[in-house]
Amino acid sequence: MRKRAIVIGGSIGGLFAGLLLRRIGWDVSIHERAGEELGARGAGIVTHDELHEALTLATGHSEPIGVSVSGRVVLDRDGSVVCEASRPQVLASWDRVWQRLRACTGGIYHHGHTLVSVEQPGNTVVANFAGGEQIDADLLIAADGIQSTVRKQLFPQSQPQYVGYIAWRGLVDESELSPQARDRLFDRFGFCLPPHEQMLGYPVDGIDRDGKATCRYNYVWYRPAHPEFDLPRLLKGSDGQQYADAIPPNRLHPDVVDDMRQAAERLLAPPFAEVVRRTKTPLLQPIVDLETPSMIQGRIALMGDAAFVARPHVGAGVTKAAGDARALADLLSQHDDVDIALTAYQKQRHAYGQRIIRRTRHLGAYMQSQLLSDEQRALAEKHRSPRAVMDETATMQDMETW
Ligand SMILES: Cc1cc2nc3c(=O)[nH]c(=O)nc-3n(C[C@H](O)[C@H](O)[C@H](O)COP(=O)(O)OP(=O)(O)OC[C@H]3O[C@@H](n4cnc5c(N)ncnc54)[C@H](O)[C@@H]3O)c2cc1C
Repeated sequence: MRKRAIVIGGSIGGLFAGLLLRRIGWDVSIHERAGEELGARGAGIVTHDELHEALTLATGHSEPIGVSVSGRVVLDRDGSVVCEASRPQVLASWDRVWQRLRACTGGIYHHGHTLVSVEQPGNTVVANFAGGEQIDADLLIAADGIQSTVRKQLFPQSQPQYVGYIAWRGLVDESELSPQARDRLFDRFGFCLPPHEQMLGYPVDGIDRDGKATCRYNYVWYRPAHPEFDLPRLLKGSDGQQYADAIPPNRLHPDVVDDMRQAAERLLAPPFAEVVRRTKTPLLQPIVDLETPSMIQGRIALMGDAAFVARPHVGAGVTKAAGDARALADLLSQHDDVDIALTAYQKQRHAYGQRIIRRTRHLGAYMQSQLLSDEQRALAEKHRSPRAVMDETATMQDMETW
C-alpha cells in the first residue's frame, strides 16, 4: 500500500514537499489555511543553484525562471558609484515560483483548511482541522511557516526573537520608473548604505503583458527600530489595532508610510528614493531569528520557516525550504523505514538550518548594533565596509565554513 503524507501549509515549502513526495510514490495532500490563491502576493527572492534544481525536479520541466544580472554596485547618497564587482546572479519573484509549483499540484491542494492540532497514536499521525475534520497519515510535514501551529504544539518554547530592526520591502513595475532610475538599477544587484541602515534591490520577473515579459524592481531596506520606542508605533494599524509581530500591508498607518517615504528622499541615492516613492503597497517586516530544537518528533517533520527563520541577508529562505523538502523526499525514497529516514533528515537539515542562522546573524550584526551603546556601535562600525556588504550579502559561497 502507498504511504500517505499530509502537508500543512501551501506556500512554497509545502508545494515543494507535496510535489517531491508525490514523485517518489507517496499519496500526498497539501492543506493551506488561506481561502484564496497565494499567487498574487509576495515580492522578490534571491535564487541559488539548489532552488533551480529542486524546481526542475518538482515540476518536471526546466524552463528558467527569473532575471539575470551581471554584477553588483554600491551607490552613494548622490547616486555616484562607491564600488562595484562582477557577480552574475539570477533573481526571481515569489509569485512566479509559487505559480510554477502550484500549476503542477492538481487536486492534491486544498484551500481553507486550517490545522488546529496534531496527535500521534502509534506509528501514525492524525491532523485535526478547524471544522472538525480529521485526517490520518504515516507522516505529517509541517510547512506552516513562522507562526507554525505544529511547532507551537511540539516546541512551545521556540518563539521568533525580534532582533532590533525592520525591513521595508516593495515591488515596482519597471514601466513606473524614470529612464534614469531604470538605467541605474536594472542591470545589477544594487546597494546603498546610509549611516545605520542598508538598502538593497534587484530586478525580478514581472507579469507578462500582451505576450511580452516585463520586469519589476524589488527592494529590501533595513532600518533600526527599538522594540519599545519604535516598533509599537510602526505596528499600530490604520484601524487602531496594535499588531504584535506583523502587520498586513493594507493596515499600515499612512503617517508611518509618509515618514518612511520622506526618509527615503533624505537618505537614499536618487534611484532608490524613486523606487520607494513609486511603491504602491510597501510591506513592513520586523526582522526575527527563530530556531527549533528539533526538526522531527515521532512521525512529524518540520521544514522551511516552521523550523528555522533566518534573517533575509543570505537571501536563502525559499532555497532552504526547497532544500528541506528535497532532502526529506530523497531520504524517504532511500529508506523504506520512515523513522530511519526522519532521523537522517534531522541530522542533515538541523545542522544546515543552524549554519544559515549563524551566517545571517553575522551579516545582520551591523544593523543589530544600532540599538547598542556608542562604544559597542563604534566597534561594529569597524566591520562595516561597502565592499564587504556588497560581496557577502545574498550569496551562499563558502557555506561549509559558516
Ligand atoms: C503569501 C506569501 C508571500 C511571501 N513572499 C515572500 C517574498 O516575496 N520574498 C521572500 O523572501 N519570502 C516570501 N515569503 C516567505 C517565504 O515563502 C518563506 O520564507 C520561505 O519560502 C519558506 O516558506 P514556507 O513554505 O516554509 O513558509 P511560508 O511561506 O511562511 O508559508 C507557510 C504557509 O502555511 C500556511 N499556514 C500557517 N498556519 C497554518 C495552519 N494552521 N493550517 C494550514 N496552513 C497554515 C500559511 O498560510 C502559509 O501559506 C512569503 C510567504 C507567503 C506566505
